[in-house]
Amino acid sequence: MTETQIETKVLDGKATAKAIRAEVAEGCASLLERHGIRPGLTVVLVGEDPASSIYVRSKNRAAERAGMTSDIIRLPADASESKVLETVEQLNADASVHGILIQLPLPDGIDASKVIKAIDPDKDVDGFHPVNVGRVNIGLPGFAPCTPAGVIELLKRYQIELSGAHAVVIGRSNIVGKPMAALLLRENCTVTVCHSRTKDLPAVAAQADILIAAVGRLGMVTADFIRPGAAVIDVGIHRVSDEAMVRDLFDDDAKRLATLAEKGAVVAGDVHPAQAANRAGWLTPVPGGVGPLTIAMLLKNTLTAATRSAERA
Ligand code: NDP
Repeated sequence: MTETQIETKVLDGKATAKAIRAEVAEGCASLLERHGIRPGLTVVLVGEDPASSIYVRSKNRAAERAGMTSDIIRLPADASESKVLETVEQLNADASVHGILIQLPLPDGIDASKVIKAIDPDKDVDGFHPVNVGRVNIGLPGFAPCTPAGVIELLKRYQIELSGAHAVVIGRSNIVGKPMAALLLRENCTVTVCHSRTKDLPAVAAQADILIAAVGRLGMVTADFIRPGAAVIDVGIHRVSDEAMVRDLFDDDAKRLATLAEKGAVVAGDVHPAQAANRAGWLTPVPGGVGPLTIAMLLKNTLTAATRSAERA
């Protein structure tokens, strides 16, 4: 190990997600006992996108395992926008449904922002409704989008110092980058948001105590982006089937090569793992980092929605 090398510690999203799911299950049992209410999550899936179908099934299973009721409403790919809106209205009116999730992307011809706006903000467990975006930005209780909320939860559970830390977020999407920045600001970080027009991105990123990569570009965050000792959070998810690329990203790691041989691809993120190792102080692995937290936070938001609804009743 050279002088600048650091022993990188793992931010284990899988274990953290398991702990959150167990807490949610306890919360569901207690809500049932106190109020006779079982939290209900309904996912609306329009069309038959294979990846979306897998995500929806795993959300559904995770909700049931936590003690919630969970439904999937499947609409055909050629469903009209008004049919989707009508479905949302029915779910808004159904007192047994506490969380509504519209699986994105929606087929062409359906305006996702219109559908999201139709959801009752108090049932918007994905946190995409403009009312919840506003609430999160001004610090009111609302629902924060699950992926960035999961990142905050992970940082807190590992006691990474947030107050006063310089957090750099690479990416400004409405789903990840922007809400991530808002949540970090709420935790008193000094926040810099970078995007495709940012000048000298590696130098800006290298100022971070906490670096969040939500850029959607495989292995883009290389050693020069990382201040030695920084906590690095990798939100990216990519399937990599090219062997040379897998060897480069994972430093010829035998386990990854075996997965590649067996499954035809491995999963990697926006951070170059071999270059981040021994430089970052903390690092989320991919897979097993941010990914599992997203569903755990969805369950947490659904429990919160059901609890608030019970308290209002
Ligand atoms: P988007 O494509 O919506 O946003 C990407 C952002 O990165 C944009 O703001 C874009 O800038 C910026 N960007 C793109 N290229 C560059 C570049 N070369 N330099 C600097 N900035 C750049 O992606 P998402 O936010 O939806 O997702 C990001 C990643 O996270 C993806 O890999 C996605 O698969 C993953 N993801 C993972 C989740 C999980 O559960 N773990 C959940 C959601 C997403 P600009 O705005 O200027 O175009």
